[in-house]
Amino acid sequence: MNLHGKIIAIDSGHGGHDGGAPGRLHPEKFYNRLVAQEVRYILLKAGAWPYTLRWAKETCGIDNGQAMRLRDRAKIINEFRAGNGARVDLVLSIHHNGHDDRMANGLEVWHYTGSEAGRALGQGVLDGMASKMPMRVRGLFSTKRFAMLKLPEAPSIITEGCFVTNASDENWLINNWRMEAAGIVAGLKVVELEL
Ligand SMILES: [Zn+2]
Repeated sequence: MNLHGKIIAIDSGHGGHDGGAPGRLHPEKFYNRLVAQEVRYILLKAGAWPYTLRWAKETCGIDNGQAMRLRDRAKIINEFRAGNGARVDLVLSIHHNGHDDRMANGLEVWHYTGSEAGRALGQGVLDGMASKMPMRVRGLFSTKRFAMLKLPEAPSIITEGCFVTNASDENWLINNWRMEAAGIVAGLKVVELEL
């Protein structure tokens, strides 16, 4: 996909009092934001228009320490219009995984069940991440349950970069989060999808 001019909403998972999965070094939200910021930077260099929800939240003056509600995130995405009236083309919701079993590891990507565009995006981004991240590839999964896949009108995927509850995954992540971001954008570039 040619990223030039594409409006890409970047949702950094959790935030505020909601840390997400508990890492050994940092909560999940910390890594989500690092990767999201780097994705934004790489997308800008590629000529895309990244739209960072975290900033929308602060602009709206609702940064009261609470995590933004998922339906509010989707509403902002759906109501966004660029200066030329264009809507969001696709949504990246950036997360990392966690599990009580600290052996659980690897990366996975989720899309909305039945969304062909979501499936294509998810597979491309999973492949792009796998090319940059030396860890187990758990696979591409679909569900109808996740709000950030269901509510946005544009095709949406959730990346679960690796497990912050796994020491080996987290050690890689703390040093290489830029690689994860590079993998996400590399994946978007190879997806054959007309939006
Ligand atoms: Zn999460």
